Amino acid sequence: MASSLLRPGSLPNLSGTKTVRGTYFVQTWGCQMNEEDSEQMGLYLQSLGFVKASSPFEAHVVLLNTCSVRKKPEDKAFSFLGELRPFKAARPDMVIGVAGCMAQLRADEIKRRNPHVDFVVGTAQVASIPGLVEEVLQKRRFIKRMELPERKGAVVTEVPQRHVERGGKLKAFVPIQYGCDKFCTFCIVPTTRGRERSRPTEHIVEEVRRLAELGTKEVTLLGQTVNSYGKNLAEGRVPFSQLLRLLAGVPGIERLRYTSPYPRDFKDDLIEAIRDVPQVMEHCHMPLQAGDDGLLSRMKRVYTVESFAQIVNGLREAVPWIGLTTDIIVGFPGETDSEFQATLAAMERFRFDGAFMFRYSPRPGTPAAEMTQVATRVSGLRLEKLIETQHRIQLEKNEALVGQEFEVLVEGPTPKNPSLLQGYSRCFRMLHFPGDSGLKGSLVTVRATEPHLWGLVGTV
Ligand code: SF4
Repeated sequence: MASSLLRPGSLPNLSGTKTVRGTYFVQTWGCQMNEEDSEQMGLYLQSLGFVKASSPFEAHVVLLNTCSVRKKPEDKAFSFLGELRPFKAARPDMVIGVAGCMAQLRADEIKRRNPHVDFVVGTAQVASIPGLVEEVLQKRRFIKRMELPERKGAVVTEVPQRHVERGGKLKAFVPIQYGCDKFCTFCIVPTTRGRERSRPTEHIVEEVRRLAELGTKEVTLLGQTVNSYGKNLAEGRVPFSQLLRLLAGVPGIERLRYTSPYPRDFKDDLIEAIRDVPQVMEHCHMPLQAGDDGLLSRMKRVYTVESFAQIVNGLREAVPWIGLTTDIIVGFPGETDSEFQATLAAMERFRFDGAFMFRYSPRPGTPAAEMTQVATRVSGLRLEKLIETQHRIQLEKNEALVGQEFEVLVEGPTPKNPSLLQGYSRCFRMLHFPGDSGLKGSLVTVRATEPHLWGLVGTV
């Protein structure tokens, strides 16, 4: 396995190759963790001498970074593999690899249905991709590399080796934890990403320090249950709040975000860090998933609506202007009308600033897939009602912010209207405002003048 424990100062420089050997394309589906993994894959391929192609169909190496959280992205990945088939037939030297959660789950099926795939690689094996590409180029035989850490609670001495030669950018994702031990009954992640393990603190600090030196001002820390970071580290427990305080001390880092915390592990020390550490943003994306205790229990979410409310109250008492966003699933197996009404009531009670709302999608191999399913028509109507409720609340909350001032990190021109700049406030509201593109990368104060569903328009 390529993942050995690294020390700061001994982090690998894999970017020495100068000769261009061909082109690569990474197609990504799914979450921010996948986006981050895809960036890593690109960096590893660049270290082999491949440069980015503008189209997968002309690339020499094509990687599919797949997602299994719902059926739709799996269907898209299989369809994309089908599209690649004639190109591989025309250019047999093309290398096709499949990575990500679907690769971890369905490696044999992927190969059976797509004999033109050269390798399948599991979620904990991103660092082995350059070796796999070389092996395919030399030996031209199918390879599968799937090992996942299996022991719950084991002290982690090996974590995936990351490529640290990242390019300069204003905002960056940094994974701090991999896998999950929670086993919610609807979720396939503990199977696809393995048991929870944290990256050593010194590696994270070193990566953030390097990013800051290249101009990164905002870092988002990633983990499936990010606030349970630090358990079972060889160096001893490092609470998540302590990690935030350490990273806040890295010169040049102006903003720290994180996603997603798990409610049961959300303790007062984290609320204090949000309140007291200037670099920690006043925004929290905390998945509620459902507003009924019976539903939460069937989902094996280990908290109640009231314990969730205590965290929300604690956060809003400490930082009244905090932005709170969430995830909600409708149509979970057996969801009754009164349980759905309880979820709607919870949305009215918590008045989230934003929400990702999904219809439940059965994942084979999870306990919920075996439960009695809700009719698609019913879950569709419930989703419509939920979205309608949340959008009304969202707009009302944005309307109430007109006239207020926000610190905004300027990301650059708005893609759909380049005469406006855009950026997020500390409470994670998107603001659009007229301004000079030279402001990109700076923190400005914007006064909100006009609300809309997804944020605010304002003036600097
Ligand atoms: S906490 Fe639950 S929903 Fe989140 S990754 Fe773990 S098992 Fe999945």
